[in-house]
Amino acid sequence: MQILISLDDYCKAYNLQIGVYSPLSYFVGSSDLISIAKKLKLRDGSFYPLPIYMPLRDQNLSGKVWGQKVDLIYENNLVGFIEVSEVYKPDKDDLCINLFGTKDKNHPGVNYFLNEPNYFISGTPTIFKAPDFTNEKYFMSPDQVKSEKAKRGLKSLAGFQTRNIPHRAHEHLQRTSLEICDGILIHPLVGWKKPGDFSKDAIVRAYKILIDNFYPKNNVIFSLFYSPMFYAGPREALFHALVRKNFGCTHFIVGRDHAGVGNFYKLYEAHQIATKYAHLLDIEFLLLRGPYFCKKCRCIVTDKHCRHNKDMICKISGSNVRRLMLNEEDLPDWLIRPQIANVLTKKDLI
Ligand SMILES: [Zn+2]
Repeated sequence: MQILISLDDYCKAYNLQIGVYSPLSYFVGSSDLISIAKKLKLRDGSFYPLPIYMPLRDQNLSGKVWGQKVDLIYENNLVGFIEVSEVYKPDKDDLCINLFGTKDKNHPGVNYFLNEPNYFISGTPTIFKAPDFTNEKYFMSPDQVKSEKAKRGLKSLAGFQTRNIPHRAHEHLQRTSLEICDGILIHPLVGWKKPGDFSKDAIVRAYKILIDNFYPKNNVIFSLFYSPMFYAGPREALFHALVRKNFGCTHFIVGRDHAGVGNFYKLYEAHQIATKYAHLLDIEFLLLRGPYFCKKCRCIVTDKHCRHNKDMICKISGSNVRRLMLNEEDLPDWLIRPQIANVLTKKDLI
């Protein structure tokens, strides 16, 4: 028997196998899914904030695959197999409230989750043909990042999650972290993202300029993180930290609205949840305030070291950059380095 899988399914199966999502090594079952949603725990009690699940894309097979060893087919290629230990129909509406804090379909993560097939399967995947992206220049497994960290003699490493090209606020967060840690892992997520976000090529192109021309050679590791976005805000901050620990990070940067979207999460809500659960994660959080440009201070500051009122403030955000690009307006120097702005066009938005 065989099932067809999507690129995201394939990517998640491979990640489970190489330890990206450790301590999870299998696609969650119904009791794990509920336990993660309600208690941020796997059924064995270990801390886990977001579910790695496998949708059964051919719903006609829902009565047939339980207990079977099933081949995994991606784009006509046999890439691995899974021993199916459960087939279940999650109560997605109910889970959304816990996982995303809303079931509003305008939330891209909610919309994606609700549009997944009705049946999920549980089991440990075995992938014997690695996805093509593992041959790409900027792919690194957790072991490869850890050995790079050791080779460079970096005792502490701060993980930086992003789905954007680097603007001035990101740069401020990265430089601040390098004051604290020996190195930084710049780890852009390039799995499923909502339409309007930046393409993988644009992110690589933009970061190459920043890293090759401005940062020191030894202390910045750049690698792409192949995993879908949830846009689950504070919960996803915990998930992103847990995953980066598996890549050897000792620290993890959380900014103003981590993995947020629209106004679904409160500013600094991710800081609060990180503080609450930090003791369950063997990683130190760098909870940093949102940097902005101040016209009086004439530099990138945060509310921790600038006294000026909001008339003086120029907000810096990825949405801001994307909006200006869509309108084909100039990207000001205080928002993004001109060398980076010069290599971007609105075609770089997916
Ligand atoms: Zn100021």
